[in-house]
Amino acid sequence: MNLVFASKNEAKVSEIRALLPEGYTLRSLNDMGWNKDIEETGNTFYENARIKAVQVFQATGMPCFADDSGLEVTVLAGRPGVFSARYAGHEKNDQKNNEKLLRELAVFQDRSATFKTVIAYCCSDGVRFFSGEIKGHIIHEFRGNMGFGYDPLFVPVGWEKTFAEVSKAEKNKASHRAMAFEQLMHFLKSVDK
Ligand code: IMP
Repeated sequence: MNLVFASKNEAKVSEIRALLPEGYTLRSLNDMGWNKDIEETGNTFYENARIKAVQVFQATGMPCFADDSGLEVTVLAGRPGVFSARYAGHEKNDQKNNEKLLRELAVFQDRSATFKTVIAYCCSDGVRFFSGEIKGHIIHEFRGNMGFGYDPLFVPVGWEKTFAEVSKAEKNKASHRAMAFEQLMHFLKSVDK
């Protein structure tokens, strides 16, 4: 089965590719030469995932899924949340986002946070949603150089390492995105008979 992943984020694409079962192929927006920007105008991960999946399905006619994800920090009342990519500005700079997060958390004891992903899958039957999350905490300094986004600051519950200190395969054993994608694959296998 051919799937389109409505994302230009190569870090996300490579995590998802590593989870793809045999018999499935994946094309990202970069693979398809898609150069339009999709505006994420929603207020929730669900709305934004839906906007991306529907727009790409309408343009290509191919079954496709989109991931909208982010970090919700308890003492920041769930921020940066849907604004995770643009937390420190529209240039979507991971380093600046992480530095802003460290500044905002400096005065707080509670550093608990949750990574969340919503995947929207769109085909001619309509849109379905799948979600995943992982709880953890934000450390005080950057550790590791793998992954992307807030990975160098995020230690999952029960772990000692950040997501940026482990391989993609290790991250995929626990991550919010892997959890949501596994549900999508479970659904697709159940209808692809
Ligand atoms: P989106 O592309 O609008 O879904 O924005 C996702 C943003 O959330 C990314 O740019 C990161 O800042 C953050 N994020 C989501 N998932 C992860 C992850 O697995 N690791 C680190 N940061 C993430």
